[in-house]
Amino acid sequence: MSQAVPPLRVGVLGGTFDPVHLGHLRSAVELQEALALDRVHMIPAASPPLRGMPSVAPAERLALLALGIGDTPGLVADPRELDRDGPSYTVDTLASLREELGGAARLIMALGHDAFLKLAEWHRPERLFALAHLAVIHRPDFDAPLSPALAELIAEREVDTAEEMMERPAGAVLRLALPTRMAISATEVRRRLAEGRSVRYLLPEAVEQRIRHRRLYLSR
Ligand code: ATP
Repeated sequence: MSQAVPPLRVGVLGGTFDPVHLGHLRSAVELQEALALDRVHMIPAASPPLRGMPSVAPAERLALLALGIGDTPGLVADPRELDRDGPSYTVDTLASLREELGGAARLIMALGHDAFLKLAEWHRPERLFALAHLAVIHRPDFDAPLSPALAELIAEREVDTAEEMMERPAGAVLRLALPTRMAISATEVRRRLAEGRSVRYLLPEAVEQRIRHRRLYLSR
């Protein structure tokens, strides 16, 4: 008798990646491991709706991301938000992935606790849960209480284990404390670059080299 093929498990880590750093990349690897994902799509926002314009063009941020990922198994630099016009709404990104993967796949959107705190302000936040699960990654220095709107949005959705989450294709919220919590932020990386200070070991070396070669992030 043939064994049923288990549904695909796909993670999504969106962000500005302005620029990508080891906090993003290490989290993506540990997320893949913690949830036994087949792959993790890292998707740079062309035009993030809730923040100012990133300092570097979308295609360049994607190139830095691809360089940072290199040949890391299971991590994918996904250009899909660059191919769309207008603001980069995550709900559209998840809808396009869901269409590609079909209804049975487990689709898991991951985001850091800082980004999670603003989730209720996103475009059509309740629709996100029809399309994907949410994994909230603990970040050092970000531990504020949830707003009433956010608490209402995730009410009844929280689960305690990955197994529970994987019982269905979408709709649950899981908090994850990944083993390596790196207090690296792109803001700090940009500040250091603009001030001519070292960013060694905050970024993959190939990413630092390209930034220096192209003279990116020299001003704030
Ligand atoms: P900025 O400082 O410009 O706000 P950032 O470093 O927070 O940038 P983003 O591109 O905004 O990076 O983040 C993309 C996603 O990665 C978000 O969900 C964010 O919470 C998460 N993230 C960012 N830095 C880390 C880190 N050091 N560890 C774990 N997750 C992170």
